[in-house]
Amino acid sequence: MRQRAVIGNWKMHGSIKSVRNLMVEIMDGLSPLAGELEIALCPSFVHLALVGNLLRESGSRIKLGAQDAHMEDKGAYTGDVSAPMLADIGARFVLVGHSERRSSAGETNNIVVSKFGAIQASGLIPVLCVGESLSQREVGVTELTILPQIDPIVEKFGFSVFENALIAYEPVWAIGTGKTATPEQAQAAHELIRAHLAKEDAKTADSVRIIYGGSVSSNNAQHLFKQKDVDGGLVGGASLKAEEFISICKSVD
Ligand code: PEP
Repeated sequence: MRQRAVIGNWKMHGSIKSVRNLMVEIMDGLSPLAGELEIALCPSFVHLALVGNLLRESGSRIKLGAQDAHMEDKGAYTGDVSAPMLADIGARFVLVGHSERRSSAGETNNIVVSKFGAIQASGLIPVLCVGESLSQREVGVTELTILPQIDPIVEKFGFSVFENALIAYEPVWAIGTGKTATPEQAQAAHELIRAHLAKEDAKTADSVRIIYGGSVSSNNAQHLFKQKDVDGGLVGGASLKAEEFISICKSVD
């Protein structure tokens, strides 16, 4: 049985004051649920220590995550943060290959592969984000887009890396747009990914968690999370509203 997971991605939002307020409400509403359901929050780099300390002080089982990591452990990379630094500060998860980084920071599949390796080598759990654009979906190349975002990782590190990683299926056209994939569209993509992985190793494919991201809200979460191969969600905008995020987490059976 795969443990369900809901991960909040706060992107480039928040101030010390707003993060504190959000944390008070989220910990109050969700700490009792965390554990049974895996819940993680990915604040901006500057708020990682604050969120980590608040979680530690309250003894919450909500976990800390980061939105990105550099592929090297250290060095002359001005402005970047490495995976060992994130491990040191208490992070457990790191998003990798988010479509916003693929588009705004020009991250290629090669870069994503290297970052994935660095994250895992630091003892952290990568959350590999994959997904197609609207035009790719419209011309029918969803499969041809998603699978090549996964295969180079298997080729470089072997299939067993997925014993300790999550995949987030995030159709680019649904991220931050208010347009969500229908539960059927999400299930079809998740099933496709799992079936593809199963060609390598059915047992690992069955245990890897594949979460859905793209305008998840309290209105659609329950239907999405009910799908057989949807193991939870990666939630952007809605994770910045405590009531909404709590309600999304409570939608997981
Ligand atoms: C995301 O940031 O990964 C995301 C899915 O954002 P949103 O929920 O706002 O679409």
